[in-house]
Amino acid sequence: MHIDKIELYHVAMPLIYPWRTAYGEDKSIDSLLVKLISGNEYGWGETTPFAAPCYSPEWTSGVFHLLKQWLAPAIVGREIESPQQLDESLAHYKGNPFAKAGLDTAWWVLDSKLRNLPLHRALGGQRDRIDVGADFGVMDSVDDLIEAVGTAVDSRFKRVKLKFRPGWDVDMLAAVRSNFPDLTMHIDCNSGYRLDDLPLFRKIDKFNLAMIEQPLAHDDLVDHAKLAKQIDTPICLDESVNSLGRAQQAIELESCRWVNIKPGRVGGLTAARAIHDLCREAGIGCWVGGMLESSVGASLCVALATLENFTYPADIFPSSRFYEQDLANPPVEIAVSDTGPPQVEAPNIASIEPQPVDERIERHCVDRAVIE
Ligand code: MG
Repeated sequence: MHIDKIELYHVAMPLIYPWRTAYGEDKSIDSLLVKLISGNEYGWGETTPFAAPCYSPEWTSGVFHLLKQWLAPAIVGREIESPQQLDESLAHYKGNPFAKAGLDTAWWVLDSKLRNLPLHRALGGQRDRIDVGADFGVMDSVDDLIEAVGTAVDSRFKRVKLKFRPGWDVDMLAAVRSNFPDLTMHIDCNSGYRLDDLPLFRKIDKFNLAMIEQPLAHDDLVDHAKLAKQIDTPICLDESVNSLGRAQQAIELESCRWVNIKPGRVGGLTAARAIHDLCREAGIGCWVGGMLESSVGASLCVALATLENFTYPADIFPSSRFYEQDLANPPVEIAVSDTGPPQVEAPNIASIEPQPVDERIERHCVDRAVIE
């Protein structure tokens, strides 16, 4: 396809309530929407590194300027026929997976439109619906958390994830476990601990968790491998796996038994699929994570999650959980039934292709650019 024009929109989407993790508190989600235009067709991509470089070294304003100054000009006016060619066109710019993911995801959406193929089929997904999990950030009280987890259990969520940080740690976990002894659950530490905290992780072994997500530093693999050898609970990497190469190293070092794959963090859908394939061959489980994207970005995550080695329920949320109104239409909806677990139907979101609403972009826009 010939890339005629690229539009960039940095938006700050206000949350209904703050999202609290080990690295802090977000009152809005800063995201970057990318519109890739070829002839009369276009595709929307999204990448959501957050406003400050606290989840990873990237941040939305930085991603906006990198895309505007370097990455978008490198492909505009050119024929880009494959995701590999796109990747090669940007390869001399080091790192910056969130920025590259903006272009990669938009390329996949536009290409699947031009081929008249639902995105999840273009990616090779075999399923038409995916299981989703329930997630809980740090709350005002443990009682509030237990009530919320109870609601998730009543709604038949197959697993629950709890944010975990100093002060919201073992006592919180003990309270949840004693109320829900059989619940499949795990904790996400968002790189809040170090290897010196081994005694804490040994204590956690008794809670029979499915996994501990990203306990140690955001860029570490070696200490995770050391920790993995000294505890029984499987380690899942999130922040540390930001490329296919890092996934290869993590597998070689035995740093993890699970990988949470987010298209933004790894550079887009091309790398996400490659990491999925690599993990499948190595016997490492995968699941799809999210960054509280608008329904544009969430639909990319849903499409990705239809691949076969995504065996643990995904972090995909209904828009109404975090937003008064999603930036795009249609919003993400989770189908809760009386008999089965909550699911998202892939055809209902991965192939409808949510569209940002102009008036909502106007209301939440921080910065914009057109490259042609
Ligand atoms: Mg995580």
